Amino acid sequence: MQPSDPSWSDEEARLRTAICKIGELCYSRGTVVAADGNISARMRDGSILVTPTGSMKGFLNPHQIAKLGADGTPPPVGPKPSSEIGIHMVAYEERPDVRAILHAHPPHAVAMTIAGIDLQMPVIPEVIVTIGGIPTAPFGTPGTPELPETIREIIRCSDTVMMKNHGSVTLGTNLMEAFKKLDMLEHTARILWLAHTAKGGLDPLPPEDVQKLLATRAALGITQRNTLETGCGLPQDGN
Ligand SMILES: [Zn+2]
Repeated sequence: MQPSDPSWSDEEARLRTAICKIGELCYSRGTVVAADGNISARMRDGSILVTPTGSMKGFLNPHQIAKLGADGTPPPVGPKPSSEIGIHMVAYEERPDVRAILHAHPPHAVAMTIAGIDLQMPVIPEVIVTIGGIPTAPFGTPGTPELPETIREIIRCSDTVMMKNHGSVTLGTNLMEAFKKLDMLEHTARILWLAHTAKGGLDPLPPEDVQKLLATRAALGITQRNTLETGCGLPQDGN
C-alpha cells in the first residue's frame, strides 16, 4: 500500500484502506472477478468513498478510491466513481443507518436468479433465524437509472438483495458487516445449488418448523431485519 495522503482524515485513510482490503477479500472469494462489482463507505460527514470505474477490485490502492459529496456529486478531478454508483446512492438514501455497501457478482447466487430458484425459500435454519431469506429484485439494465430503482423498495426491508441475472447488493453499518452478508449470501446459495442439483429440486421446511425457528429469535437476542417476519420481497417469478 502507498502511504496515506496528508489531506485525509484518520477516518478517510482508514476507510480507503478498508475498501481495498474488502476488494481483496471479495476477489479471493470469487465473488468479483475482472472489473466486477463496487464497494463504498459513507463517512461521518456524509461524503461517499467508492471504488473507481473499470478497476480490478482485488488490486486497488487507497489513492485510487473516488470521493463524492453526500448527494453523489462526482469529483471535478481525481478518480472517477463506479458507473453503478446509483445503486449505492439509492441504498444510502433509503437507509440512514447504513455506512457501507457492496455490489458483487457471487456466481452461485446469480445462477440461482437466472435459473429462477427462489432464494427466499426457508430451508437452512441459520438463515431463517437471522435474515429470513434473500429477496430478488426484478431485472434492471446495468448502467441505466432503471437498475437502482429496482432495488429501492426491497432495500428498505432487507440488508441482502439479489438483482436478477446480475449480482448482489449487501448493506452494513461497516464494511465488514456488508462483506459478512455477501459471504453468507453466496454460501447459502451454494448449499441450495448443491442440494437442488443432487435432488432435482428443493423442499422448504414445513411452516410449523419455520415458525418454531422464528420464535427463537427473541430468546437469542436477534433483532436484525428478517424477511420472513416482514414478508419483504416476495419472489418475482415461479420456480
Ligand atoms: Zn454488477
